[in-house]
Amino acid sequence: MIDVKKIVGTIEKLLAEDTPQSITYAALECRLAIEKICYDRLRIAHDYISPHDLRRYRPGDVVKTLLAEVDGNTASNLTISISRQPSDTYKIPIDQISDTEWVQIGAQAGFDPKKLGNYWQSLSNLALHVRLPKSKDDGIPEYGDAARIRKHVTEVLDELKRIAIGTLLTTGIGEEVSFECECARANRRRSGLLRNGQIVSCVGVDCNESFDVSIENNEFYFVRRVIRFPCQCGEQLAIPTRIAENLKRDQFLDVECLKCRERTRLMWRLMRKQPEAQSSAGQAQSGPIDAR
Ligand SMILES: [Zn+2]
Ligand SMILES: [Zn+2]
Repeated sequence: MIDVKKIVGTIEKLLAEDTPQSITYAALECRLAIEKICYDRLRIAHDYISPHDLRRYRPGDVVKTLLAEVDGNTASNLTISISRQPSDTYKIPIDQISDTEWVQIGAQAGFDPKKLGNYWQSLSNLALHVRLPKSKDDGIPEYGDAARIRKHVTEVLDELKRIAIGTLLTTGIGEEVSFECECARANRRRSGLLRNGQIVSCVGVDCNESFDVSIENNEFYFVRRVIRFPCQCGEQLAIPTRIAENLKRDQFLDVECLKCRERTRLMWRLMRKQPEAQSSAGQAQSGPIDAR
């Protein structure tokens, strides 16, 4: 877990120096802190989500994806306590055990991912770019407006101080489902956050497998996504869909048949599709376009 208190100390020292340069560096430290805080939540969630399923990498967006797919409490204030005795010795429901019987073991600091994302953007706009000259006579300033940057850094620093109170991070509490990938890795998912029709990738960074999720009568199914095609010897071949999806234009993929050793070459082709009325009248046919 990253040490936000240490970062807060660094920023306070830079603000105390109080030069345009040190205040600009303080803004940079604030921006890095926001990235570290958000990516730290991603790091501990990596057992539950593949890096391939992150569609956007800005810190606020990463946390929003975690909220939707890993844990609805990723960015919440949480306190974790343990009872002094095993729970079954109390002979009463857990929520009726008196407060004095609980020992706090730590707390997760929450934050608003949208607010942190906005700070990340505004710090950059205000402090981390040189202003464009408006005319030939305009000078190139060394730094941005120190007073405005300082005011904004102080505001972000207050938020960082609040987050620095956290002593632990959790991956959440809730029912899990798991399945084994072709690469033998166990993939775990929070069942309450899975949706019918969702596509999930294997958590292995070097694995190309992905799965279609379907839910029926509270049963979860993970169907391997593959593209199948026949070899000339009649054998059915299959490649993980994600390998095909990542093929660039004009890039070939060679697939070797393990039975007859023949190689099949695959590539994406642009297709022409005629309007329904025309093609049913037999005037034109759909088919691949030869780009060369
Ligand atoms: Zn895998
Ligand atoms: Zn074959």
